[in-house]
Amino acid sequence: MRHVIALDVGGTWMKAALLGVDSAPAPGTAPVLLHRERRATGRERGPEAVVAEILGFAADLAAHGAAHLGGPAVAAGVAVPGIVDERGGRAVYAANLGWRDVPLRELLAERLGVPVALGHDVRTGGLAEGRIGAGKGAGRFLFVPLGTGIAGAIGIGGGVEAGAHGFAGEIGHIVVRPGGADCPCGQRGCLERYASAAAVGEAWARVSGRDDADAADCAKAVANGDPGAERVWHDAVDALADGLVTALTLLDPGTLIIGGGLAEAGETLFRPLREAVGRRITFQTPPTIVPAALGDTAGCLGAGLLARDLLGPAGPDRTDPTEVTA
Ligand SMILES: [Zn+2]
Repeated sequence: MRHVIALDVGGTWMKAALLGVDSAPAPGTAPVLLHRERRATGRERGPEAVVAEILGFAADLAAHGAAHLGGPAVAAGVAVPGIVDERGGRAVYAANLGWRDVPLRELLAERLGVPVALGHDVRTGGLAEGRIGAGKGAGRFLFVPLGTGIAGAIGIGGGVEAGAHGFAGEIGHIVVRPGGADCPCGQRGCLERYASAAAVGEAWARVSGRDDADAADCAKAVANGDPGAERVWHDAVDALADGLVTALTLLDPGTLIIGGGLAEAGETLFRPLREAVGRRITFQTPPTIVPAALGDTAGCLGAGLLARDLLGPAGPDRTDPTEVTA
């Protein structure tokens, strides 16, 4: 079986896998996990060091495949955070890694000698959730991870929409409370200031008087019937439903996949969220609202799918290192 390199670059860690791929996979088929490994990004040594770590890790993964899997990988997919020009293969900006305008796809293709795809971390994770995870078979979906911030991936026709400038899906910066809390993006009242795991944790820390309280603590207190926690939770769910209804009015997704730390609250989140969305909808068809299924492996699996897509239905003979997915 041929295999591809999948690499998901985070702020602190890089998660990688070698994934076996069929030449003509049936829709919804996940790649086969053959090898898994992780390494630190080394960001404390600066952006050039991070790029060198990525290139070295990819080369070592290729060598591992050559030594243990009957030959080197035939393609590679890499997901990175921040602003990403997927078409141009450039990592434009990432606050947590400090890089600016790195031609990462070209650098990797030169190093590996195989076609490489570069993806945005959330859109790449969304691609995996939509194709082989919680949205399997949905076609049109919206993936919204609720973590430190809130991002989104708009799934259309087997791919994820990046937008004209790489900003499509930034649902966390839809204004849901005009004139509300300041957001680092420069606006006020953005959804992620009210409904991210970080925002819920901060609100619960204020109400409970415990500085170290986080969103998971708040969810537990809600499940135990704490009225203060219930108020915090209710406000967050209300803001989230406002933002989601704006998105689903525009996009009409079949499936709404909610992930990230806040989704780990399970039905404590999903029951009131479905009700709050249902109360707001008038003419729209409500989407199926489901928890994400792939957890923190979504980015890596998605990177593998980007690499698999490069091979196309025709087989392994395309070796143009500048090849891009359509
Ligand atoms: Zn904002």
